[in-house]
Amino acid sequence: MLELWTGFVDALYPLGCRLCGAALETDTLACAAHPLELDRASPRCGRCAAELPPALPDGELCPDCRRHGRRFERALCIGSYRGGLHDWVLAFKHGGRRDLALPLGALLAERLLEHGAAGLLVPVPLHPLRHFERGYDQAALLAGELARRTRLRKLHALVRTRATRPQGSALSLSRDANVRGAFRVRRLARRAIQGQELWLVDDVSTSGSTADECARVLLHAGAARVGVALVARASSVPGSTSRLP
Ligand SMILES: [Zn+2]
Ligand SMILES: [Zn+2]
Repeated sequence: MLELWTGFVDALYPLGCRLCGAALETDTLACAAHPLELDRASPRCGRCAAELPPALPDGELCPDCRRHGRRFERALCIGSYRGGLHDWVLAFKHGGRRDLALPLGALLAERLLEHGAAGLLVPVPLHPLRHFERGYDQAALLAGELARRTRLRKLHALVRTRATRPQGSALSLSRDANVRGAFRVRRLARRAIQGQELWLVDDVSTSGSTADECARVLLHAGAARVGVALVARASSVPGSTSRLP
């Protein structure tokens, strides 16, 4: 189905930007307004992938991770949730553009391969209601694309047991309280994850609390360690809520 859909998009934008259709002079995927490539320039936290001030070395821990610690070991992302990447993610997540799993998955796969990631890919599940509204589950599509391009295998190991409020909404509880107890490990997946390296797959992370809660239940169920593969890492600086997913 995805291949068919991609064929449809290719037919619509034969030589154009895959996001907006603008004509391209060279054979690339994206126009100048929607650049799409791995961000190799910004230093990032070695744990949660938050962008660090340019003066700090890459891989240093951010203040948040130093203060609270994390249950996952490492987050990898294509870049920060702003500019061109912000537009790609919005279209992928809310614009019905499920075909964007291909270019986004290709870049994120590159990051996982560079890092030498192994084991299983576990998509962060959508609540069934949201899945129904949207018609597709973007993290599952991404995980499928990552599995196609790496040696990691996709496993739907988690179930979301209740809907959480969107992060950054005025009504949201503290982020940890919001996601606490929102996930459980599927009974059928318990054996497969024993002693395994797992990589959670999601589109955007703001505070890292969803990934942390997923890591908590997976480790409790016997996983050896958990990493996180994200399309984009949003800033969690208080007040910068205008672009939260
Ligand atoms: Zn464009
Ligand atoms: Zn951090």
